Amino acid sequence: MKKKLAVTFVGLAVFLPLIMFFAGNCKKAEFHSFKMDTDIRISGQGRDMAKAAKEINELLDNIDKNLNSHSSEGMIFELNSGKRVALPADIAEMIELSEEVREKSDGAFNIAVKPLIDIWGFSHGKSGRVPEKEEIESAVKLIDNTKIEISDDGISVSDGGKIDLGAVAKGYASDRSREILKKHKVKYAILDFGGNIVTYGKKPDGTDFVVGISDGDGGIYAYVFTGETCVVTSGGYERFFEEKGKRYHHLLDPHTGYPAKNGLKSVTIISENGTLADALSTACFVLGEEKGGELAESFGVQAVFLDEKGKVFTVGNPKIKLESEKED
Ligand code: AMP
Ligand code: MG
Repeated sequence: MKKKLAVTFVGLAVFLPLIMFFAGNCKKAEFHSFKMDTDIRISGQGRDMAKAAKEINELLDNIDKNLNSHSSEGMIFELNSGKRVALPADIAEMIELSEEVREKSDGAFNIAVKPLIDIWGFSHGKSGRVPEKEEIESAVKLIDNTKIEISDDGISVSDGGKIDLGAVAKGYASDRSREILKKHKVKYAILDFGGNIVTYGKKPDGTDFVVGISDGDGGIYAYVFTGETCVVTSGGYERFFEEKGKRYHHLLDPHTGYPAKNGLKSVTIISENGTLADALSTACFVLGEEKGGELAESFGVQAVFLDEKGKVFTVGNPKIKLESEKED
């Protein structure tokens, strides 16, 4: 199975400062690590930039352990093993937001999708395969949110239901990371969590941050010009396998049980709320251009849809420039 991550970085499990230099008394630095199955890059400027980057790396380790459904320990592992687990307030908030997106997307987005992810083999370290029709039908029946029970003493999932926060965890990480940057009085920073970009603060020259959006083939098809925000992209090219010459990706339609197929290559959401942007990028991809566009609009976020023919469609008037329009 191909993943969006460059294999070269797999060995870099440690927190690794790449460049560190001084601008006045303010340290400018870049850091690189491999966490949450993703190549992580953090760069920014601030006296305590290194401390902030270290704390963000620790946060990502913690999220990976507790919220990754492929982890063999931590909160989601316990939950999916049938145990009742305590629900911290910020995770409860993320689940609440996920439920709101599920309702408004008519179930195209659903954190209870895990049984389907498992049979398609989109779990860590597994190679994908097309399941039998009967397997798909059984897994679809298990995607039932009434199996999730939340009360004051915690959360549990019953009757074979399982949850996966893969579509929102990096967005949640973005929001928590911003709090860390603020705590350490970082002047400005760019965090790249592989498809989830956080821009923070103000650049010293007052210009916009420029975030490139991948075309899925190693290039950039558009640039987003923005202030402090989150730019989150979901694309079928991020994780997929091929069988009998056909490509199957990891963004699954909980209604049909198959990878969403609607002519889209990717959806990018721009919003200050990283968790929402992450949930919506997945939801809009599964819904397709028309319904996905309406969903993005209903949440008041900006969105950029790219279809397989290279056509671009936007919602909310984002400030973008297409690579094809760039002057040399
Ligand atoms: P993202 O890259 O944010 O779009 O998230 C992709 C991940 O979300 C997948 O690897 C799955 O773990 C999970 N996922 C796939 N399909 C869905 C869906 N329809 N609803 C919610 N989560 C999904
Ligand atoms: Mg997402």
